[in-house]
Amino acid sequence: MSRFYLTTAIDYSNGDPHIGHAYEKVGADVIARFHRLAGEDVHYVIGMDEHGQKVAQEAAAQGRPPQELVDDLAARFQTVWDRLSISHDDFIRTTEPRHRQAVQALVRKIRDAGDLYRDRYEGYYCTGCEAFKREPELEEGRCPIHPSREIAWTEEENWFFRLSAYRDRLIEHIEAHPEFIEPESRRNEILRLLEGGLEDISASRSRVPWGVPFPDEEGHTVYVWFDALPNYISAIGFPGDEFHTWWPAGLHVIGKDITRFHCVIWPAMLLSAGLELPRTVWGHGFVKIGGGKLSKSEARLLDLDQLIDRHGPDAFRYFLLREIPWDRDRDFPSVDAFLKQFDERYNADLANDLGNLLNRTVSMSRKYRDGIVRRFADTELDAQIEGALDVYEKAMADGRLHEGLDAAMSIVRAANGFIDTEQPWKLAREPESQERLDDVLAALVRGLGTTALMLEPFIPGKAVEMWQRLGGSDLPLLSGLSEGIPTTVPERWDTVLFPRVDLDDRQA
Ligand SMILES: [Zn+2]
Repeated sequence: MSRFYLTTAIDYSNGDPHIGHAYEKVGADVIARFHRLAGEDVHYVIGMDEHGQKVAQEAAAQGRPPQELVDDLAARFQTVWDRLSISHDDFIRTTEPRHRQAVQALVRKIRDAGDLYRDRYEGYYCTGCEAFKREPELEEGRCPIHPSREIAWTEEENWFFRLSAYRDRLIEHIEAHPEFIEPESRRNEILRLLEGGLEDISASRSRVPWGVPFPDEEGHTVYVWFDALPNYISAIGFPGDEFHTWWPAGLHVIGKDITRFHCVIWPAMLLSAGLELPRTVWGHGFVKIGGGKLSKSEARLLDLDQLIDRHGPDAFRYFLLREIPWDRDRDFPSVDAFLKQFDERYNADLANDLGNLLNRTVSMSRKYRDGIVRRFADTELDAQIEGALDVYEKAMADGRLHEGLDAAMSIVRAANGFIDTEQPWKLAREPESQERLDDVLAALVRGLGTTALMLEPFIPGKAVEMWQRLGGSDLPLLSGLSEGIPTTVPERWDTVLFPRVDLDDRQA
């Protein structure tokens, strides 16, 4: 069985989970679930980045020990991931002993390779980015990503990593393996950055006690990025032998703002330690609302628990992946526009198109055939189902999740059109059309069964429910789909799959 190791960025412990975190976890979860449907052995890891100056400062401001702060936040994130049916196999936290051991082992390997040296650092540090900033990176003396933060002048004696030595090997690797950085726009940004040259970076901090102790160097901790990136190997048992079961990773899913860390610093660390590079780093785009600046009251309207409660967790997953292409940004003009679009999409796609189709199919199968599915010949709909499945498999394997989702919903649209043209209620009254009626009903059951499987990565709970409403039990793998389609449709359930909401009654 082929193995697929998938990770997301670990979330920084400096605030509650928000919609951006959810988009990344859900998108990666869709990929994990698709690979499982394809029959692969998948290992999906998410987690928390819990060290660094910003966490220490926040804990101090709250008058609490930092460990207590990060324990609280980790629990809050995990509760949301459970609500959203994120199917991760492990949750790595950088304050865990297994992580500390892995980071220290990796630092020792890099030092043994001759890539660490002591030097004095003088320059700016943005605690927002947890990154050192060069003068040209600042705008009016401030970090352009965190213009409200004071930027700190820092002077300390640190260990430095010889990042500059890896520039040519990184360029070579990216050019020989274009799939290493996806989508292409991200690859081009990184190549431009590498062509401009690289400077060595700090690997330790001497004034930030909240971190992994730097090996054999009293008073130093590992710089927070140097500590965070190895979570991808600490989670799978590095430096133990079991690490080789999953490494190299098939895919690191990250936000496009941290590609430099994942496509330059991380691979350079791995090269230095003599470890293989991940196959692909995917820098997804962002959900933006009103250009990105939200007031506190607007942000409250986008509280994740409220968004999940609005139409249920599956509907929220569907909406995120339907509206925000996995390879680009999506900007909503306002919070109201976002919520309005969510409500409309829910009613149109899920309650009407999908939910009604399921109801009509089950009702007609029961009414005209007592639920027995019989097939004499293929219909036009069967050909459309096959075509959509092909498009789906290619799009999903390439990370074009929005196109995969659209392929699944194209079956729903085709099936609704098919009912309008075929008019099964008319066929039922014509003695000469009885076999055609069987074929039409069988095609509809097949269309919905196929759609349920294709939608499982996106709406896992409702997809299983769809399958059961058609008379199936466990969802099959993609390879077992054609033999697995249910053949006896049970009585209609007395609830509907997605209850329609009355939009006039709703306040945004
Ligand atoms: Zn910053």
